[in-house]
Amino acid sequence: MGRDDAPLDALRRRGEAFLEEVSAEYHAAHAGHKEGAALQPIYEKHRAAYDDEAFAMALELFKGSTPAAGAPVSEEHRSSRLLLDWLLESRVGRELAALDEREIAWEGAAVVRTSDGAEEPYQRAAITIANTRDAATRHALDAARAALVQAELAPMKQEKLEREHEVVSKLGIASTYNATWEALAGVSVAALRAECEAFLRDTQAMWDELMPFYVKKGLGMAVADVTRADLLALMRAPEFDAYFPAEAMEREVRRQVTEMGTSPDANGHVLYDTADRPGKRARAFCAPVRIPDVVHLVLRPHGGSSDYMTLMHELGHALHFGNMRRDLPFEFRWLGDNSVTEGYAMLFDHRLKDAGWLARYTGLGKKELPAFLHSQGFEELHFVRRYCAKLIYETELHGGGVSWSALPDLFVETLTNATGFRYHAADAFVDVDPRYYAARYLRAWQMQAVLDESLRERFDADWWRNPKAGPWIVGELFGWGQRELADEQSRRVAGKGLSFAPVIAGIERMIG
Ligand SMILES: [Zn+2]
Repeated sequence: MGRDDAPLDALRRRGEAFLEEVSAEYHAAHAGHKEGAALQPIYEKHRAAYDDEAFAMALELFKGSTPAAGAPVSEEHRSSRLLLDWLLESRVGRELAALDEREIAWEGAAVVRTSDGAEEPYQRAAITIANTRDAATRHALDAARAALVQAELAPMKQEKLEREHEVVSKLGIASTYNATWEALAGVSVAALRAECEAFLRDTQAMWDELMPFYVKKGLGMAVADVTRADLLALMRAPEFDAYFPAEAMEREVRRQVTEMGTSPDANGHVLYDTADRPGKRARAFCAPVRIPDVVHLVLRPHGGSSDYMTLMHELGHALHFGNMRRDLPFEFRWLGDNSVTEGYAMLFDHRLKDAGWLARYTGLGKKELPAFLHSQGFEELHFVRRYCAKLIYETELHGGGVSWSALPDLFVETLTNATGFRYHAADAFVDVDPRYYAARYLRAWQMQAVLDESLRERFDADWWRNPKAGPWIVGELFGWGQRELADEQSRRVAGKGLSFAPVIAGIERMIG
């Protein structure tokens, strides 16, 4: 306390004021309350929150509080690690701003032209590919998209990645890009990669059964012929949409949270915005503007299972922010290991993969339920296998051991082998999540599965309607913000660390 706290307190005060204004501006733009976001003046006004001096302050706090090997982590180290991670991200963002703007301008203007003369704006290409039922037409459009990406977008993406590696390795946190990420995230990339390799092996036999079944059923194609474009078309199938009506969505979701014994709007902190207005985004999103007091949950209900899933996902985030303890310092409410908030979002969206929940809150009857659940098991296994492959590939992309010219072939080999759908080399620097976000998602997948298992033990298989479960979730999970790493949190509440074992058990339940 006292003098030593001054730099930490200054970083907190400035950081929170800055993020509140930025978030309010993003919310206003994305919810259609104003045209475009005026971020530049906010960045100007709050320069001291993220400038070089702030970075140096956080780095000094971080280095000065590094524990000796085996010693416990102090609160100061925990806090400074989160602050430094965030300041590194904004530093990188600043250094890459010009390259980002060039890329955004390209994406807004680029047009995909197929050999037969069809034209498609680049930004709509993925949606059109997913909606094209004829395989030959779909492949032609995707080939044209890939050729355009290869010629124009991939070189820009590569330049940005190279620049990012340069900026990060010069910051003096650790000697390499990967070591810097590990120091700030508190997670070992190598260990997670080994888990991903094991997951791919352990689920290979299951995938070899599921994948040909859905390729034949949904696409009428042979396994040897399918590409990533076909996967997009396969996922688009609207077969069950009628059982997920738009008009019932918000009502049923609120009913479930109420039955779980907690407030569906965190006692007025979560503001549902379902009104139609020009400029409002089609997909649901959650925008915390003051944590925990003002959290916007913005949606435009259009129905279908993916819409329900998105609402549940964003509601998981919103209830996390809206139920955080107000006395937590800034960094534990606004920053931290995003595997935690993504894990809560997934704990909620995975109810769309839970037979009891589906039977109670959707229109699916006894007749359709097994087939829907089975298809969810296929989707789940595909996503986790794809993310495992992405993580494995990204450790090479960021590891520096493979040349830039050899990476595209490695990308195709890794992603194609894991999923069975052929990828394009053109996407090797495009289909990459910023700053290892794939690792956050993978650990969130593990965390939601451990939590689901633990909730089943405590409150039974239908914990989501047990009035004791909601208060427990608020008190033991949401209230803590993101103070802990996902693994620490899992050990505290479930008595075991993160692993893929409960993820596999969950998929086995779905495919029966
Ligand atoms: Zn999310």
